[in-house]
Amino acid sequence: MPVDNLPTPTVPAAIKKYVSSIQHPVALIGCRTSGMSQDCCEYDLAVLAQGRNQVLQAAGHAVELVHINELKDHIADLSGMIVLNDIKFTLSSAARDFAPEKYRRALAAAGKKSMISSLFYQQRMNEAKNPVVAAMWLKAAAYEFAAGSISMSGSRPMPLHELEQMRQTDAGRMAEGVKIAFECIGLERATRPAISRSLEAIMELKSKDYDRDLIMSKIKHLLDRRMLADCYYYAGKVVSKSLAGKGDSFHNRYSKLVQLAMDLTSDLGHLQKLQRSLFRAANGALKG
Ligand SMILES: [Zn+2]
Repeated sequence: MPVDNLPTPTVPAAIKKYVSSIQHPVALIGCRTSGMSQDCCEYDLAVLAQGRNQVLQAAGHAVELVHINELKDHIADLSGMIVLNDIKFTLSSAARDFAPEKYRRALAAAGKKSMISSLFYQQRMNEAKNPVVAAMWLKAAAYEFAAGSISMSGSRPMPLHELEQMRQTDAGRMAEGVKIAFECIGLERATRPAISRSLEAIMELKSKDYDRDLIMSKIKHLLDRRMLADCYYYAGKVVSKSLAGKGDSFHNRYSKLVQLAMDLTSDLGHLQKLQRSLFRAANGALKG
């Protein structure tokens, strides 16, 4: 069963009360609409207005405000949204427009984009002169492949739940690629000491990001629940996303921190072999 069809949980009164104070259309999006969320997950609120994305607390619940300008650019994110505040009926009329076929097309397009990013990151790996930076790009490429395989299988990837989504989804012809992606990510290295070693480096690398504390609390939650593979996957995912947006000079200057945060190995020969397999898988997925 596609995870997006799970029963919808109710929205706490405190969140509804908070939303009523916002002077723009607001909808609940993200994993809280999917039935997959955990206690540590925030309530993602899409706000139809310009503004600064931020994490805040509403009566003990973590809330992330995600500002959106153009509805049509976010069909995959908004599908399944729960409209909470609908000034001028903007969201409910848009929701009628989001036919299942449009959602499927948006997901397929997002999946393709991820696969192309995966190939692009693999190219960055091959160009990297620093072996740590090369290993970093391979992991980032594997995460893109994983997210792409979820989108192409018809579900919206949700970072904290991606591993669970992949367990539940039949990846079909991408199954072999998913296996390779897991090997690139190094899931078999998901131990408590490995995660603990990464945590401090992640704190430092994300020190300027508005969502750092929320992400750290999620990592700790998974660690406390002994969900080691999910925790390792998620921690690597958030760091790789953050690092992929930075330049070469940053990666080279902070390579020790990058290595610790992403728990990177240095066996470049093995990594190159994995890259060739991931390349075939990503190309195969794109060709359909
Ligand atoms: Zn979640």
